[in-house]
Amino acid sequence: MDYIKLPSKLKGFSNTQTDLVKTLSGRDSYLIRGDLKQEETDCICPLCAGKMHVHNTFEANLNHLCFGSTLSCLKFSKLRYFCPSCRHTQMQKVPFQALGHRMTLPLWQYTRDLLASGMTNKVVGSITGLGKNTVKDIDMQRLKDKYTIDGNKLIQPERQAKYLGIDEFKLHDGNKYAVVIIDMETGHILWIAHGKKKATVFAFIEHVGLDWLDGVEAIACDMNSDFEEAFETMCPHIQVVYDYFHIVKYFHDKVAGEVRKDEQRRLVAEGDIKAAESLKKSKYILNSSFETLQRKDEEAKGGKLHAKGSLLFNKEPVPMKPGYVDRYEKIIDLNKLFFTIDLIKEKLAEAYRATDEVEMAKMIEELMDICKMTKNEHFRKFYRMLDNHFEGIIAHATYRISAGKIEGINNRIKTIRRQGYGYPDDDYFFLKVFDSSRKTYVRNPGSNKIPQNL
Ligand SMILES: [Zn+2]
Repeated sequence: MDYIKLPSKLKGFSNTQTDLVKTLSGRDSYLIRGDLKQEETDCICPLCAGKMHVHNTFEANLNHLCFGSTLSCLKFSKLRYFCPSCRHTQMQKVPFQALGHRMTLPLWQYTRDLLASGMTNKVVGSITGLGKNTVKDIDMQRLKDKYTIDGNKLIQPERQAKYLGIDEFKLHDGNKYAVVIIDMETGHILWIAHGKKKATVFAFIEHVGLDWLDGVEAIACDMNSDFEEAFETMCPHIQVVYDYFHIVKYFHDKVAGEVRKDEQRRLVAEGDIKAAESLKKSKYILNSSFETLQRKDEEAKGGKLHAKGSLLFNKEPVPMKPGYVDRYEKIIDLNKLFFTIDLIKEKLAEAYRATDEVEMAKMIEELMDICKMTKNEHFRKFYRMLDNHFEGIIAHATYRISAGKIEGINNRIKTIRRQGYGYPDDDYFFLKVFDSSRKTYVRNPGSNKIPQNL
């Protein structure tokens, strides 16, 4: 073989021979054989300070950095010492071994760096040749070092937040929930914990302290009264704000969706199966604005395609069918309630654009009157919800908190869950989510060119 000499960064190790071998999985690996230097202090007994003897030797294998796609592994002998005066035995120290791992410090650091760059564990495992549990252990330690105090407590917020956002999300088993509290300006998650009750909020308050909370002006939440009450009890100066995202989500789920289901049931009961079927597919149409539907019709007329054809895979292009607006109008005819749904949606969007509380209050009241007039149970429920949360809703005119950050966190959580195949280890999952909210995007990374004058 032809050799290139490189500094190994492995203090005390001298390479004597290198072989190219195959791993059990069939990958190429350099087996770097060598000797480990014996330090004078190695043979001093840590218990009685007597001089220890060499008892026997062990073969050690440590995974090391890869060279391109070729892995590498160090092979050397390690001594075991025996103290004749106190019978203590111990292994020779390996200064370049990562603590608790059968790998070198440079490989351990490289693995950490790859993980910190945002690569998935699977990719990092295939680059470094390490097993998935080892990669996970290294990542867990990295996250604990970065975001916890002694691995038991989350770090304090890095800065004073002005606006907070609180939201809950379902855990993998579908019944349990967790809560996230974020800094609405940076998007950083400040708190993440099991449960969705007041206790989680109290735990957060205890964590950051009342002095820190003095600097917080408002908190955006959904209409879960538990969160609101918790903050009102402990920090009455913080204004609760109900953001647009949560109000609209509530309206879609609890009003628009329910009205549609009722109507479908009624049509089926009356034997009008065909009309019921058409309603089933109408969710998209009902949730799109009229302008979107008009635009889609225009596009269909203009010959726009639903799906492009492919020469490579022999696929015919699928043209868009016109008639979005037609169908919409038919559905509207089916029931005037749908018209009201539309109206409310428009009025909600308009109200949430207001920058004056009096103006916003007027618009919300108008909208509440419409709900009341429908005499429909779902609209009335919405009316009561608005009534019960009125102050927090119109506070949006003053604290114009956008819900984008909370939505973003929700999406990140979903992505991380998919990447991790569920992360049965919640601590790890939470720290991953915590970490991902702090990822910064580097637009122009520095050049890696070597200076010419070297
Ligand atoms: Zn001893």
